[in-house]
Amino acid sequence: MNDTQVRDQRTIGAPVVTLAMPRMRRQAGRLRDRPVLGEKKVILAAPRGYCAGVDRAVVAVEKALVRYGAPVYVRKQIVHNVHVVNTLEKMGAVFVEEVDEVPEGAHVVFSAHGVSPAVVNEAADRGLHAIDATCPLVTKVHREAVRFAKQDLEILLIGHDGHEEVEGTAGEAPDRITIVNSPDDVDALEVRDPDRLVWLSQTTLSVDETMETVRRLRERFPNLQDPPSDDICYATQNRQVAVKQIAPQADLVLVVGSENSSNSVRLKEVALEYGARAAYRVDFASEVRQEWLDGVRTVGVTSGASVPEVLVQELLDDLADAGYRDVEAAVTAEEDLVFSLPKELRQDAAGNRDARALGGRVR
Ligand code: SF4
Repeated sequence: MNDTQVRDQRTIGAPVVTLAMPRMRRQAGRLRDRPVLGEKKVILAAPRGYCAGVDRAVVAVEKALVRYGAPVYVRKQIVHNVHVVNTLEKMGAVFVEEVDEVPEGAHVVFSAHGVSPAVVNEAADRGLHAIDATCPLVTKVHREAVRFAKQDLEILLIGHDGHEEVEGTAGEAPDRITIVNSPDDVDALEVRDPDRLVWLSQTTLSVDETMETVRRLRERFPNLQDPPSDDICYATQNRQVAVKQIAPQADLVLVVGSENSSNSVRLKEVALEYGARAAYRVDFASEVRQEWLDGVRTVGVTSGASVPEVLVQELLDDLADAGYRDVEAAVTAEEDLVFSLPKELRQDAAGNRDARALGGRVR
């Protein structure tokens, strides 16, 4: 197979919307091509990488920088990816932990993970110009929480305590929400009324583990109500389905994604659960160690929902150096969802509407 064919295959299943994230400086030849029994190959999961919510949030910061000039402040990491955050920092974004670090009157972007009403109010009190880049699928969970609280239901929020998304959702109805971290939490739960319960979840969890938590909850509380639809988002589910397909065929699965990216961490766990002999998560291709490839014929590759495609391409380049030039795509779904930008950014200073003003699906 020649180089062109390899490149063509590598683009299969890449996200529909991609941003011009810069490449890292690659150290060509760092990984060596050591012999193994049989043919070496890569199985590349699709979908992988950027989801619609991440794309929207990153574009929002870029557009805010163009429209208002640097610095533009961002509360928390806009998305959980080191490379994205570093790149936006170089463009003039300033990442802060809380809005009280933002100078009065400045522009602040709320991250894709969402914020509680208390944060929105604090920003307003400080006279900040807030741009809300909360993913619409997280906003949907917030609305459900508000609605169930008004119906006097107690909400069992399945999610990781301390994760920004969970903090934001819990802040919508702090007196009504109890966080359930895992199936093991269920036995110790104390509730006000076992017949007035509903569950919700963080958007980026393991589908299987969440269903197990719900099963345990229902065992204890048979009258537990379900939300109208799954809260685990389409992107998280699609990436897990894809990795489940490649894992049994892979001696090694490499997941590109940051340590604090919930859906990236889940991908590595799912790969191991579904039969990968080994799995590692890396931020950058340069973290792959030669010894991980010892005796490995088939490498599965995927990436979390906050990972720009350029980082996957760099990993494939390094793997090609190590003899894994045959790249086969495993496509389990097509994604073409695009969210409209936050309303503050749908038109430029001259009043021209952004092409993505209405969102929807693009080809
Ligand atoms: S992972 Fe899902 S919920 Fe999170 S930003 Fe992407 S689409 Fe939205």
